[in-house]
Amino acid sequence: MRKPIIVGNWKMNKTITEAKEFIAAVDPHVTDKATFGVATSFLALNEAIKDAKNLIIAAENCHFEDNGAFTGEVSVPMLQEIGTKYCIIGHSERRQMFGDTDETVNKKAVKLIHSGITPIICCGETLEEFEAGKTEEVVRRQVNAALQGLCEKCTANVVIAYEPIWAIGTGKSATKEIANDTCGIVRSEVEKMFGKETAEQVRIQYGGSVKPENIKEYMAMEHIDGALIGGASLKADSFISIINAID
Ligand code: PGA
Repeated sequence: MRKPIIVGNWKMNKTITEAKEFIAAVDPHVTDKATFGVATSFLALNEAIKDAKNLIIAAENCHFEDNGAFTGEVSVPMLQEIGTKYCIIGHSERRQMFGDTDETVNKKAVKLIHSGITPIICCGETLEEFEAGKTEEVVRRQVNAALQGLCEKCTANVVIAYEPIWAIGTGKSATKEIANDTCGIVRSEVEKMFGKETAEQVRIQYGGSVKPENIKEYMAMEHIDGALIGGASLKADSFISIINAID
């Protein structure tokens, strides 16, 4: 039985003060129906980890080298030192605006896993690819590349987020059928690479305009084990409604 995992992706939002206020408001409402958490900026991470008793706190990115001349980057040992347990990698915004590639996402995944941090690996097609019927091809390629060199046991612990780019921040969420079918494709790629047992353990999230009003319908689908939520994760009330929708 896969435990659902619902993570808010704050992106470049919330100062340390705002992050602390959110955690103080939301943390007491967390239930054991799912793993609930938020991904904060690097700056707020340390305080957020200290404050959260029930929420899990994730980083939004990392570098794959331990240290070196990489101005502006944060390494996995730095994340480890403050007790980070989850890290989003390969978000489409990082792929599109900051040069992340299938290859660097793979290097980050390997580094995180070997450091005991669970990667939340993002994949998903553009609107153009969706309209050209290339979703399966793109998602299989991204998932296959991201998981290269990992073992079966390591892969069973990763989280993969399917986020169609056309549904991110647009209010145009994918239908539950499309989301489920593509999460099923992700699972079948994992099965092809690592076997059925691993594929049945890996947790797959849908992301793209998920909100309190639609999360239940996604969570009812066979291959959807959680959600990665941007806009609707920013307000405490909205996140508490999401928590309460999971029963
Ligand atoms: P959204 O963002 O929920 O605002 O669409 C999702 C994401 O980018 O992870």
